[in-house]
Amino acid sequence: MGVVSISMPDELEERIDEFGEDHGYTGRSEIVREAVRNLLNEFEDKRLEDRDLMAIVTVLFDFETTSVEEKMMHLRHDHEELVVSNFHSHVGNHYCMELFVLEGQLEEISTFVGKIRATKDTVSVDYSVHPVDDISLLS
Ligand SMILES: [Zn+2]
Repeated sequence: MGVVSISMPDELEERIDEFGEDHGYTGRSEIVREAVRNLLNEFEDKRLEDRDLMAIVTVLFDFETTSVEEKMMHLRHDHEELVVSNFHSHVGNHYCMELFVLEGQLEEISTFVGKIRATKDTVSVDYSVHPVDDISLLS
């Protein structure tokens, strides 16, 4: 097994330790390995493959970090065929919220979400994915 050294904010490190104590983990490595596995498996869902999907992605960031807003604009242009709808909204006194509605296949959606996650200085990134053919079955 290889040894990987990673840097993270003190606050996150404390949360990992607390989580480990609360859930009976033997150490940080075990927690990080599990988190990485979950992240890598996230878009490997066989039930969603080769289907038409819609996704809703929300990104929260501090309104002073204009670099995030700029990156969001570039992403929207780079993935024009995927982004069905997009709006920018303000939350509280300090935050901007960017909402994307996507329509496409799992691979394109995961690429898009991955790029958003890789954006520095976001406060949070959330998303949900739904098969569109399921929606029509419901009506
Ligand atoms: Zn804004």
